[in-house]
Amino acid sequence: GGPTRDELLEGLNEPQRAAVVHAGAPLLVVAGAGSGKTRVLTRRIAWLITERKAHPGSILAITFTNKAAAEMKERVEELVGKRARIMWVSTFHSACVRILRKEITALDFDGTSFKSNFSIYDAADSKRLMTLVLKDLDLDPKKYQPGAVLHWVSNHKNELRDPEEAAKDARNSFEEAYAAAYTNYQRRLREANALDFDDLIMLTVHLFQTLPDVRENYRRRFRHVLVDEYQDTNHAQYALIHQLCGQDLEEGRPVEDTPSELMVVGDADQSIYAFRGANIRNIMDFEQDFPDATSILLEQNYRSTQTILTAANSVIRNNASRKDKRLWSDAGDGERIVGYVADDEHDEARFVSEEIDKLVDTGDVKAADVAVFYRTNAQSRVFEEIFIRTGQPYKVVGGVRFYERREVRDALAYLRMLVNTADEISLRRVLNTPKRGIGDRAEACVQALAERERMSFWEALVLADQAPGLATRSLKNIQGFVAMIQELQSMVAADERADVILESVLERSGYLAELEASDDPQDETRVENLAELVAVAREFSDDPQPGPSADPTEVEAGTVAVTLGDFLERVALVADSDQIPDAPDGEDAGVVTLMTLHTAKGLEFPVVFLTGLEDGVFPHQRSLGDQPELEEERRLAYVGVTRARERLYVSRAMVRSAWGAPSHNPASRFIDEFPVDLVDWRRTAQAMTRWGRPDLAASSPARLGAPTDAGRRNFSAAAARADVMAKSKPAREIPSLEPGDRVLHDSFGMGTVVALEGAGDKSVASIDFGSEGVKRLLLRYAPVEKL
Ligand code: ATP
Ligand code: MG
Repeated sequence: GGPTRDELLEGLNEPQRAAVVHAGAPLLVVAGAGSGKTRVLTRRIAWLITERKAHPGSILAITFTNKAAAEMKERVEELVGKRARIMWVSTFHSACVRILRKEITALDFDGTSFKSNFSIYDAADSKRLMTLVLKDLDLDPKKYQPGAVLHWVSNHKNELRDPEEAAKDARNSFEEAYAAAYTNYQRRLREANALDFDDLIMLTVHLFQTLPDVRENYRRRFRHVLVDEYQDTNHAQYALIHQLCGQDLEEGRPVEDTPSELMVVGDADQSIYAFRGANIRNIMDFEQDFPDATSILLEQNYRSTQTILTAANSVIRNNASRKDKRLWSDAGDGERIVGYVADDEHDEARFVSEEIDKLVDTGDVKAADVAVFYRTNAQSRVFEEIFIRTGQPYKVVGGVRFYERREVRDALAYLRMLVNTADEISLRRVLNTPKRGIGDRAEACVQALAERERMSFWEALVLADQAPGLATRSLKNIQGFVAMIQELQSMVAADERADVILESVLERSGYLAELEASDDPQDETRVENLAELVAVAREFSDDPQPGPSADPTEVEAGTVAVTLGDFLERVALVADSDQIPDAPDGEDAGVVTLMTLHTAKGLEFPVVFLTGLEDGVFPHQRSLGDQPELEEERRLAYVGVTRARERLYVSRAMVRSAWGAPSHNPASRFIDEFPVDLVDWRRTAQAMTRWGRPDLAASSPARLGAPTDAGRRNFSAAAARADVMAKSKPAREIPSLEPGDRVLHDSFGMGTVVALEGAGDKSVASIDFGSEGVKRLLLRYAPVEKL
């Protein structure tokens, strides 16, 4: 038998229990960080299955990352056993892929439709496609950058606006061009039988809107819908939830007797994805959107010490537009927060590394208990360097991700075009990779044939002997390529395992041989990465999970054949946070985790280092003059602080190299928002003796051990910079500047002031030094002179 009632409610406080057992009306659980929202959601699923006798297949739970989904599933399985496997616990994207694989062929687009084996384009694929589109439309690449156009398109998709609406709304010729690009981009995606990430959600909503029967099917199936991190849903995701849990009226009566039960949990103070279209209003307006909704407030935090909570509260209090919450903890005050003002980013990294060593030496902290957070990916590098030097194992979550490496992308492109030859982006990527004598000219001849005969690029390759102007040698090479691909395709058709197909691809294509023949050490790493990819595919094939077409009423969990398509899907949907080490014991016990603040959402660590707390770094430069953006940065700070359970460190660097030049950053305003008495400053700006300090060399990286070549270059650059700075003593007097003033800088030369921020000792000027770029300089120290 499963768990008893009491077991399911054990370790929950009163309002948490109420949320678990609630039945009927839509339920909103709003609560601050660490108050048990995710725990309640997980328990509720177990409760629904055991006490309310819900079929596991009737449950749809949405998490923010695949990693969170896997954990939740595992947790529920521990509670109710293997039958839980059949539930849908996934991200919005994965859930939509599963729905679309089954239903997309029913959607009509001007007489054509997608096939159910559609490819999923990630950001890099989308960018490549958009580049082609812009070229096609003859748009000036300087004025219309693929990234910017894609961002615009993505915003429209998140708002469920199709190209036609976008064109209608265009207010100027610029936006008209964007709309034309959107139209063209969608057409090409359709031709390639591919969807981008935003399409997954938009098309599912479209599907439910245009085919009410299909929607009714899913409404009947998913009697329970639960959404974690609701504050970061965008409009399209919101619409999707409404489609599933809303109620249609027919002749004044509901179509269904009882709508599906909806539970959403979230914290408006942790909404940090506005740049991806997340709409904080979704959670704030929940009670208006679902008039009969019940709300439950959780106020006890079980994660952090009171000190950490007080700090978090006093930071977030500075945001104007929010409901104040009382969040308390009975974990006691705990340790004070430790602060450190570093000379530069290398000094900051050294501090973090030494502090971790000390903590681990005491014996009550393991390296795996420690996380280092920063605002942007690029900041990881200095931490990586010091950890490599000291031999501290670490893991970077995000950054240059495994799946973004060239060789991994090449291999995946082969697999993708094998299952979907309409995927022209993938096909062209591998056509001459490795080089097999099919050059640009040959490609253009085939392209011409494809256009003339209105066939796909692949079809034209197969019929290349009819391509006008194709050299005999090229034709031969193309025919060899086609034969190889067709042979590999027969493996796919025979449902061969993903790892076996992948190995054949690497062998037959000559890709591996080429890398192995090279003496470039980088190519050696590439071979290792490919071996890793084969291992990933093997693991995936060995551990069958319900495939995308799994239907609780049709199949038993675990019996579905795992196809190459399933593998590609899994890979396409891996999010950054999927690289987070598992349970902090076993082999990962010694590994420190590095990640950006965005990736840290929903996680917790006993020890947290919040680094780079500098105005212009965090809060991000971009947000400095913009109130809503600044508030979003502050929410990010709140997320960061509340990840810590026992110990929190905050640090900043006086000087940080940015785009190769030192920039003097003032303290983050968030530091000033911490209660003064809670922070134990190990080193403050006042105590700094850097300027004219005889032991300047002591903080130079020379004593860090044998650097790598790249590191050595960086470090000597850093030393040179330190040298320049040491010579430039603090300016006696802060020059009073205005935008437009011309200035002379000791090392950057002549410049023009473009902007000023702060006052007195904290005044910072942005100065355009022409070819040297725009620098942000702390005027107290910067060797500038007004002309
Ligand atoms: P976030 O806002 O960061 O997502 P959350 O509200 O989802 O946080 P959880 O991650 O569910 O919070 O819980 C935070 C921590 O508190 C977890 O370690 C969880 O196991 C623990 N916890 C939650 N409720 C209780 C409780 N009633 N008794 C003891 N521990 C609890
Ligand atoms: Mg949570």
